[in-house]
Amino acid sequence: MKKRLEMLEQLQEIDVRIDILKNTQSGLYGEMNAIEQGLGDARAALSDLQSRVAALEQEKAELDTSLATEQENIRRSETNMKEIKTNKEFQAVGREITAARKLTTELEEQILQKLALVEELKGEIGVKADNLSELEQNSTQRREEKQAEIDALQHDLDADTERRQAIAGELPASLVKRYDSLREQRRGQAVAVARDGYCLGCNMNLPPQLYNSLFRGDEMISCPHCQRVLILKQQPQQ
Ligand SMILES: [Zn+2]
Repeated sequence: MKKRLEMLEQLQEIDVRIDILKNTQSGLYGEMNAIEQGLGDARAALSDLQSRVAALEQEKAELDTSLATEQENIRRSETNMKEIKTNKEFQAVGREITAARKLTTELEEQILQKLALVEELKGEIGVKADNLSELEQNSTQRREEKQAEIDALQHDLDADTERRQAIAGELPASLVKRYDSLREQRRGQAVAVARDGYCLGCNMNLPPQLYNSLFRGDEMISCPHCQRVLILKQQPQQ
């Protein structure tokens, strides 16, 4: 019986360690995802800026075309003016030219605005592209480090899982089942130390008769309060 209790205790030690390893590992996977996320965000921001520049350049090209058309219209009207005979016609063409000039001025202003915006965004793109390439280099290294840590943890996990299977294999299946369900119900702790009349699993006082029977060590005794399997551990004599 004592041997079984010791094995249960070992099982719990291993399980607690497996839980910690798995948690650490899942934290590392989370960090890996965060690295990916950061890269993805940086790439998306850069490509967004590039699309905006492309759109602005397209708009500017359209404005250039309109400007050229207006300038051509003005030239044509000015040429026509020389052949106009009546004052009324002259004034009408004059108004057309004035309106077209106003339009070209507006178009030129819009073109300058687009150009300024494109310059500004290109500056931003330069900075973001530099940051991204730095982030890419740095991420590769960080990812490799995380992966190495994950692999090392996996190595420990495999070893512990193997040891757990070996120990569980030597215990009666019903006991392992009871242990597993207790562990699930009792936040990962199925086995508790009994000391000085107390169960250290739930910190409750154990009935004296039950506590005394632990000294015999010939049966498996559970705490009446938390149902954990009790293992007697006395304080070393001072
Ligand atoms: Zn208890």
